[in-house]
Amino acid sequence: MPDFDLSGRVALVTGGNGGIGRGMAIGLAEAGADVAIAARNQDKTAVVVAEIEALGRRAIAVRCDVTVEADLHTSVARTVEELGSLDILVNNAGIGGGGAYPQEIEAEDWDRILGTNLKSPMLMCKAAHDALKATGHGSIINVSSIKALMGSIRGAQYTASKAGLVNLTKSLAISYARDSIRVNAVLPGFVATDFIEKLIENQQAYTYELGRTPQRRFAEPEEFGGVAAFLASDASSFITGHALVVDGGYTA
Ligand code: NAP
Repeated sequence: MPDFDLSGRVALVTGGNGGIGRGMAIGLAEAGADVAIAARNQDKTAVVVAEIEALGRRAIAVRCDVTVEADLHTSVARTVEELGSLDILVNNAGIGGGGAYPQEIEAEDWDRILGTNLKSPMLMCKAAHDALKATGHGSIINVSSIKALMGSIRGAQYTASKAGLVNLTKSLAISYARDSIRVNAVLPGFVATDFIEKLIENQQAYTYELGRTPQRRFAEPEEFGGVAAFLASDASSFITGHALVVDGGYTA
């Protein structure tokens, strides 16, 4: 199916050195894309770069803290310089909200989580806009969460950040359509990564969340490879401003 083919296209994936980001980066490479991995831990990044190269694609490691605006510009510039273009941007890097009740949330913690999960994707979209526009078929994928669709008794900073990211996605989709850039969000349910390690260790919470998931399992990060390839490719050419839930039926 040629519409799914990403040969000759280049992706930049933040937090692509682990979890869902790695799953998406590998999926994009399997569909034919070359990939830049932008994250902080260079040892972890080197492993994923090698995995992508083993698939016969080009890959580069970019040291990037998404909360540092200069790093975002460097990531885009190095991707274009070293891989030739930037066709696909995946804003995946994100951090959890901890277990604070609303009355316990400190302003600093609010800023830290909203900064990483909402402000950084916005600034990254700004930094990548011109390069994406130049391709004539840019695609941005923002990794939100099903928590964007529901409140949470603890961790309001996280749910607010992910809901904000869905609305940011819609605004950018409308604005960037004139530049032939599509912008979509992916809303994962529970995915077996380091991100939910504590939940998985808590037998009661784990059993509860599993019980609420109709498919009776958590996703594997690799299951996001096809999702990313679909939204990045011409197979989804008329899809923009969409929030794609990938949750084993949890929100149903
Ligand atoms: P993960 O396993 O903790 O991976 C997150 C990745 O983001 C790490 O590889 C980390 O790499 C990178 N990262 C974190 N902060 C960064 C920063 N400031 N700058 C650059 N990179 C940064 O988490 P995950 O489960 O894959 O989560 C990925 C995304 O999915 C997040 O946005 C999360 O909110 C969302 N999500 C996850 C779940 C789930 O159940 N796992 C559910 C819904 C949504 P470095 O430390 O090397 O920088």
